[in-house]
Amino acid sequence: MKYCRFQLNGSAHYGLVEPGASSSGNNEDNITRLLLQPPQDSDGDVEGLPSRRMDHIPLAQASLLPPVEPSKIVCVGRNYREHAAELGHDVPREPLLFFKPPSSLLPPRATILRPQVSERTDYEGELGVVISRHCSRLSENEDVRPYILGYTCVNDFTARDLQNKDGQWARAKGFDTFCPVGPIVADGLDPWAGVQVETRVNGEVRQSGNTRDFIFALDVVIRYISQIMTLEPGDLIATGTPKGVAPVVAGDVVEVSIPGIGVLRNPVADRP
Ligand code: MG
Repeated sequence: MKYCRFQLNGSAHYGLVEPGASSSGNNEDNITRLLLQPPQDSDGDVEGLPSRRMDHIPLAQASLLPPVEPSKIVCVGRNYREHAAELGHDVPREPLLFFKPPSSLLPPRATILRPQVSERTDYEGELGVVISRHCSRLSENEDVRPYILGYTCVNDFTARDLQNKDGQWARAKGFDTFCPVGPIVADGLDPWAGVQVETRVNGEVRQSGNTRDFIFALDVVIRYISQIMTLEPGDLIATGTPKGVAPVVAGDVVEVSIPGIGVLRNPVADRP
């Protein structure tokens, strides 16, 4: 199952994404059906949701929107040992959580805007998890998979100097445009077995991590969050970034790439 959210004739829609038929010579992913409701609480059965035929649109040509409409974006800090070390931190003893506001969401291909108040803005490529259903106070051994609708790419863009200065992270993580997400949501990934998360800047690989190296496995993270706050359908969890974070400046292009999902590409500019 793969889906996106996109703009068509002036309104936002969710769309089913399928590989192009090779007989037509088109091997690219296409948006093939309009989903008539958000793909939530669907048991992952997006194909079974009410939908309407549409003229197929190549995903690459669609006017994409962030593929999530979360009530909150919950992020895990320092969830890879080598990344904690590169920032000079100890490995946390329990998951370290923070928020990004939904107003920071940015579609694929849109421009990340660096605020003048920050002198150092970093990319953080991460695996994003989209919640499928109301999720509260899971028991210790409860299977988390039914609560996961799918996965996407996230760039947890960060004003590193403000993060260090403020001590709490609402400002450093919360600027408008600081949460690029997409291009699509896909299931069929297995973060426990290992999902490769790669970040490139101007085509050069800067981060190459694997979710096998999470300090806290995804089930631990979801159960932990569920003890604190209720996760709602569509909520987004950013699972932490591997080592290799560094600043970017205006004119750079950041790509977060995850096999099975695709490439989330965003240029960077200075806020006017
Ligand atoms: Mg992060």
